[in-house]
Amino acid sequence: MNKIAVFTSGGDAPGMNAAVRAVVRKSIFHGLKIYGIKRGFHGLINQEIIPMQLGSVADTIHRGGTILLTARSPDFLTTEGQSKAIAFLQEQEIDGLVVIGGDGSFRGARVLHEAGIATVGVPGTIDNDVAFTDYSIGFDTAINTVIDAINKLRDTATSHERIYVIEVMGRSSGHIALMAGLAGGAESIIVPEAPFDLTEVCNRLQRGVDRGKLHSIILVAEGAGSAMHVGGEIKRILQLEVRVTILGHLQRGGTPSAFDRILASRLGAKAVDLLLEGQSGVMVGFYKGEIKATSFDDVFSQAQAFIWDDYKLAAILAI
Ligand code: ATP
Repeated sequence: MNKIAVFTSGGDAPGMNAAVRAVVRKSIFHGLKIYGIKRGFHGLINQEIIPMQLGSVADTIHRGGTILLTARSPDFLTTEGQSKAIAFLQEQEIDGLVVIGGDGSFRGARVLHEAGIATVGVPGTIDNDVAFTDYSIGFDTAINTVIDAINKLRDTATSHERIYVIEVMGRSSGHIALMAGLAGGAESIIVPEAPFDLTEVCNRLQRGVDRGKLHSIILVAEGAGSAMHVGGEIKRILQLEVRVTILGHLQRGGTPSAFDRILASRLGAKAVDLLLEGQSGVMVGFYKGEIKATSFDDVFSQAQAFIWDDYKLAAILAI
């Protein structure tokens, strides 16, 4: 192993820079040459490669987004695009590749692994929807961003005695809504994993109003339905003041939390170790308290577990 390359792919997530920094510095520590590919698979096809030095990642550990930029690459879904990317890596004599991204990025990484390029994945996605890692880089920062928004909305919700319906990210998973709802004391959490009963939500809200509650917070994961629709229905049924806030891309940005920086540093450094050990076709995750490598095939074999105990607990605590 002499030359390693790293890129970020899919949606950006806070802490991706800390992961890139760890890959770059750990590689240099081991005497390897390290390169950055810009814009993920798109940059691989379009030959956007830059040499990375110690200073290339200076002053980046605290920055959100990704200094290597990221993109979605429809071209990489084609055999032609994949062949171009593989040929480029071979031409550049890249011996190992670290791919930082989500599930989709790892599917692309597996294509490279199958073509004989040693490839290790590092989970970086705010959605936390990758199996075999309890946390993906960016998730902790994202839920803290949601909590911050809930705190602020709570002030105005209480002052005006209103119900706030807050839509958070999660197209096919409710992990952000669940954890932010539990930490934010939401009255109801609406997620794609669980059937949603508007009557039950309204009954719960009415019980709160009856015992003198000044405000209520409802979290809706975007994949579970539109917050506008939920808010409109609650207003119609209960005849109470309801406001809807869609947090959107606010949840993607910001300085990474200490947790995400530590996780990114550990996973990025371990990815380099795994390449040096001759491993490929694996993702390095933080699973059941340990830094652990799992094959891409196993990662794709199951969905990230939804924590039903926490879902039930949140409902009990918001009684
Ligand atoms: P996020 O969770 O933030 O959406 P992601 O890594 O899942 O991140 P995707 O847009 O799904 O994001 O994937 C990123 C890129 O990976 C795609 O643009 C595409 O180039 C590549 N990719 C995705 N799925 C595949 C696949 N099945 N085969 C080959 N490449 C893929």
